Amino acid sequence: GTQAARDYVTGVYKTVKQRNPNEEEFLQAVREIIDSLVPVFTAYPEYMNYGILERMTEPERFITFRVPWVDDNGKVQVNRGFRVQFNSAIGPYKGGLRFHPSVNASIVKFLGFEQVFKNALTGQLIGGGKGGADFNPKGKSDVEIMRFCQSFMTELYRHIGPDTDVPAGDIGVGSREIGYLFGQFKRIRGAFEPGVLTGKGLRYGGSLTRKEATGYGTIYFAQEMLADKGLAFEGSTLVVSGSGNVSIYAMEKAVELGATVVACSDSDGFIYDEEGINIDTVKQLKEAGNERIYSYVEKHPHAQFVDDCSSIWSIPCDIALPCATQNEIDGETAQLLAENGVKAVCEGANMPSNLEAIDVFLNSDILFAPAKAVNAGGVAVSALEMAQNSGKLSWTSEEVDAKLHEIMKSIYQNCRQAAKDYGHPGNLAAGANIAGFIRVADAMMEQGII
Ligand code: GLU
Repeated sequence: GTQAARDYVTGVYKTVKQRNPNEEEFLQAVREIIDSLVPVFTAYPEYMNYGILERMTEPERFITFRVPWVDDNGKVQVNRGFRVQFNSAIGPYKGGLRFHPSVNASIVKFLGFEQVFKNALTGQLIGGGKGGADFNPKGKSDVEIMRFCQSFMTELYRHIGPDTDVPAGDIGVGSREIGYLFGQFKRIRGAFEPGVLTGKGLRYGGSLTRKEATGYGTIYFAQEMLADKGLAFEGSTLVVSGSGNVSIYAMEKAVELGATVVACSDSDGFIYDEEGINIDTVKQLKEAGNERIYSYVEKHPHAQFVDDCSSIWSIPCDIALPCATQNEIDGETAQLLAENGVKAVCEGANMPSNLEAIDVFLNSDILFAPAKAVNAGGVAVSALEMAQNSGKLSWTSEEVDAKLHEIMKSIYQNCRQAAKDYGHPGNLAAGANIAGFIRVADAMMEQGII
């Protein structure tokens, strides 16, 4: 019954906690997912008998490695590289690489764990993985970035391949870094195997619409969610944290649908303009210029710059899109959003809301779109990139965009349905966890105890 399922989940969590002490982010991600699985274990006790959750919470493999490189002053630098190969039940490990000074085992594992469920939701044949390094790209020259990427790949290459593990980008890893990583992989392997990485440049096997996919997908998902409640982007105001790849293309699509973005941020602070932020300017600054968001006010003097990125959430809006990083919204911030009348929160970043914040959203009338569902468009198009690479073909942007749109619609429907079927109607967070879990769990059941 329910009690047995509850005891099972509690027991597994205890073991995970003992085995990964002090890994706060990883434990948070595990906690968030497994609490919503109690009704699943109640309905299907065989998952418990086959130790599905014990296996799912322990990565198949976790690799750490030294990344030595020489900076522009001739000084030797050493960083730590990571790759977690979390689950391969439904495909080769798939997930991005993050280069950021905060990267550690806990961060990589939380991202890898979430990736398993996210990837399952896309309906594509991709397992879950993640990686990165505690390297800080800020202020590094282009050549330093190249040398770092080459050194990183000189170890990583032996662990990856088009049918084993396929990395991509995440924070700090964009098309420039993927290019350097791919160049080094190709050189070491002595073969052109484009399917080993996604997010590649268009000239050597990248997919059209991959760059836009996470942001566009976020809006496609949100559109479905809003439409169910008779709401729309048209005429609504948005606050979007971050000004990277996810944020930029979410803003672009939302504006195309008639929304007004009143604020967006980077780690220095945020810009505010109640008449609407000019997305093209943000794109030019960030994509082409590698500049900081405060430069925006030089081009648009009536906009304001506030040098505290976390206070962006005090700006009232209809729809909040946290697209920066994990745990940017805590319980108090969530409360503030609720008091200011926000109607929907859509997580473009991975785990931007902590557990208290999610509770606030679920216990109010706010529509909450959880990261692993709403931002799955990026990895979904990565899977389409892999498909194009293995078929040696390339689809038009219209074709890829149409597939992305269909995938996001069906993710929304599956989450909604799973939430309903397992006694959490309207709770898309629970629905996403349950729908993703069941796909992976059933594949694991069929493949035996491995
Ligand atoms: N880093 C992205 C994510 O969080 C994309 C991963 C990929 O394309 O493999 O899902």
